[in-house]
Amino acid sequence: MTTINGFEIALSEEQLDKMINEQMMPVEMIDTDFDGYKKLAEGDKKALAHLVMAARIINDAALEQDHPLNLVMKKELEKAASSNTYAAKALKIFNSLNGVAGFNGIAPQPIEIFAGVHIYKGRNFYPTDLSAEEFHQIIRRMLARGKTEQLRKILSARSMVRRQGDELIAIDYTEYFADIFSKAANELEVAAHYSTNEEFKDYLGWQAQALLQNNEDMDMLADKHWAVLQNTPLEFTLSRENYDDEMTPTIFDDSDLVKLLEEHNIEVTPKDMLGARAGIVNQKGTELILKFKSQMAQLAKLMPLADKYEQKIESDEEVKQTMVDVDLATLQGDYAQCRGGITTAQNLPNDDKLAVKTGGGRRNVFHRQVRMSGDKDRTKKMLDALLEQEFHRYYDDEAEHIFVIGHENGHSLGPDAGYKTALGLYQHTIEENKADVVSISMMPEYVKSGVINEETLRKVYTTWIMRLLLKAKPQPSHPHRMGDLIHFNWLIKHGAIVITADNKLRIDFALMPKVMRQILVETIEVQLSKSPKRARQFIEENGEWGELHEYIASTLQRIGIKPYKDIRTYL
Ligand SMILES: [Zn+2]
Repeated sequence: MTTINGFEIALSEEQLDKMINEQMMPVEMIDTDFDGYKKLAEGDKKALAHLVMAARIINDAALEQDHPLNLVMKKELEKAASSNTYAAKALKIFNSLNGVAGFNGIAPQPIEIFAGVHIYKGRNFYPTDLSAEEFHQIIRRMLARGKTEQLRKILSARSMVRRQGDELIAIDYTEYFADIFSKAANELEVAAHYSTNEEFKDYLGWQAQALLQNNEDMDMLADKHWAVLQNTPLEFTLSRENYDDEMTPTIFDDSDLVKLLEEHNIEVTPKDMLGARAGIVNQKGTELILKFKSQMAQLAKLMPLADKYEQKIESDEEVKQTMVDVDLATLQGDYAQCRGGITTAQNLPNDDKLAVKTGGGRRNVFHRQVRMSGDKDRTKKMLDALLEQEFHRYYDDEAEHIFVIGHENGHSLGPDAGYKTALGLYQHTIEENKADVVSISMMPEYVKSGVINEETLRKVYTTWIMRLLLKAKPQPSHPHRMGDLIHFNWLIKHGAIVITADNKLRIDFALMPKVMRQILVETIEVQLSKSPKRARQFIEENGEWGELHEYIASTLQRIGIKPYKDIRTYL
């Protein structure tokens, strides 16, 4: 038995061996031998090293946000790992989850590395002993006492919340993480000094300041400078996304409380989990992405019910969206919490951010090393088991990349933020579903404009459909997976996917455009309704899970799934 800091490792050494040897995928970041690295100017090479350092430092903040024991358990595991192979194996799983516990995307319960160490609804953003019920009680109490200013801070995206008497108190990230942020800011300033690109230098300066000042305007300015970067040799992102906090959104379940907060003009935003990434912009990959971008204004006109809401993308205006394909040097923090997956692209800032609310653009970064880390052997087995032979030739990893480009563009089409957030608890599932269906339903338009050909269209359909197959019933808190389930069911219900007698998929390519258009129309209607009830209905009606799903899930599990990641950083 091995205990770490007084906690017993809950997984047996045999279990750990299986997880590491059979269920873990390496994700290789670039090293100094990488061609794109060798071609960098000397200054940019130095800058990149400091950006990687900054990202590593930010990882400590994410660990602290996620669980109160993360930092100490990681340190103790690392200490023990040098002389104890059991601890070394537990450390590998810790690094894959980037925390003491987390979902692996398959098991309905979170994987817990240490006995008695569980994850919390409010992560470490909130006191760990705070229930949703008490949380709501305290908010009501504080409202009655006129503590609106404090509540505004408590319900903001950028504070850690602690108890104070019978109330709660918010500590801004810049104060709670003052030490970590000042070290990271320092690395960013050194990187700015070495960088050869003026725009990028400028952004790094703003980003460093945003880490040092308790002022949301600084985040806005950093975001705005970041979002316009298109022609820079290097990439660095401080990501702030609020999908992990499950405590703040419980407020949306209590409509009286929502109303009360609205009356006091208090906005409710879940907490941001921090992530950081650094890398080198890949020119060739970026050119392909920009070809898709050039179609966006045209696509906006084709959106259903386009006259019912304002189009963010005006045909005569430059689309406020930059896009780059990046060779990654490191993924840290939220990006490295591989809990059921690892992201292949990310479009920021999100709608809740001041930069977007005040008219700033977005920047979309595609992760080359992640999408190239697929398991060929497993793909072959999956196709053999679940797809009719004649469709196998249409399965193609690069086609998935094209789908993802369309998905990311899809976020920029359709009704704006006010409609999306009105759906409360269901907003992310509906929005991710929308981005998916925009991508697939608009794909024939890219054929018409010559960006892709008919063969590639079939590849995109086939590859996307195979990627809809789920290895387990999705958690309602996983918007992308819920979307996959909805689309799969929709395609079956409307005949675009046919299941053969021996449980294999056939695809009716000719039906795809019409069937996808229907779900796009319905999705936009849901967003325009601003009704969480309507959103829930849509999800429930299309999110059923039955025998066929169980069969597919068990088949995928039998083939072997690698839910754990070993992100290897060399720089
Ligand atoms: Zn998305």
